[in-house]
Amino acid sequence: MNGYVIGIDIGGTTTAVGLVDRAGRLLAEATIPTRPDEAAVLLADRLHETIGQLRETLPHPAGPAGIGIGAPNANYYRGTVENAVNLRWGPSVNLVELFRRHYALPVAVTNDANAAAIGEQLFGAARGMRHFIVITLGTGLGSGIVVNSELLYGADGFAGELGHTVVEPDGRLCACGNRGCLETYVSATGICRTVLALMAKRCDDSPLRRIAPDALTAKDIHEAARSGDGIALEAYDATARVLGMKLADAVAHLSPEAIFLTGGFAASGELLFAPVKRYLETFLLGIYRGKVALLPSGLQEGTGGLLGAAALIWHELDRLGGRNG
Ligand SMILES: [Zn+2]
Repeated sequence: MNGYVIGIDIGGTTTAVGLVDRAGRLLAEATIPTRPDEAAVLLADRLHETIGQLRETLPHPAGPAGIGIGAPNANYYRGTVENAVNLRWGPSVNLVELFRRHYALPVAVTNDANAAAIGEQLFGAARGMRHFIVITLGTGLGSGIVVNSELLYGADGFAGELGHTVVEPDGRLCACGNRGCLETYVSATGICRTVLALMAKRCDDSPLRRIAPDALTAKDIHEAARSGDGIALEAYDATARVLGMKLADAVAHLSPEAIFLTGGFAASGELLFAPVKRYLETFLLGIYRGKVALLPSGLQEGTGGLLGAAALIWHELDRLGGRNG
């Protein structure tokens, strides 16, 4: 199929929008503030205006073929964003309806981690794979699961929330209201909590002790670990152990060919990948050992959300085309 689609990546603070062709090339892109207190309909109106400006930069007047949207707590089946913590949109907003007011086009919506997974499948390092998991590591932990080349949505559309599986009953309080969720241990904020706990327990000096607790970032911990700081290294090891354990569970459920670690916190590289690989193999049932690749994203850093949203709608259009043809 020729032409281009509109990809939209809605985040808590900024929303990225881009025109993307079938090969995953970004023809034009822009970023606007999300304004989380504003009604969703106004964000849709502002995006419509921005899309108009982006289309004017194209050398041809052709219109888009569809719209793909990645957003927190988005439901593919219903086209809604439901109870998103960082957006004050209430219990449910139908994004598909909001965009159909402006465009008579296919519109598909899913959560950002699912979008990242389908982006990896169409444009990234999962090309040719039929079974894989994408873990997005940022402020939280998201996951997108692909089985038989299709995203797994489940009965209600919310399948694949590994970040809220329990690691520790009565453990750390999570933004979702439960305790002991995986993302409270394995994420940029999770490793900060781990470092604060280790500093309270251990007596050795560390450059991290000179940073105010509420100012500590995952980047500080990364730098300290790279210079050999014991507390930072122990925090990476503890984080990797929990992630390796939960990924081993996921392998038992899904038997994927590969697991991708993406997002800002995955940029820790081998500091994270090496111990996660080791722990994953340790916790795996023998029949899976040595068979599951642990890989970084094949997409250019920072483009995953936008390309993922575009990939979502390209995937829908490919399916529709296949059905009609
Ligand atoms: Zn949770």
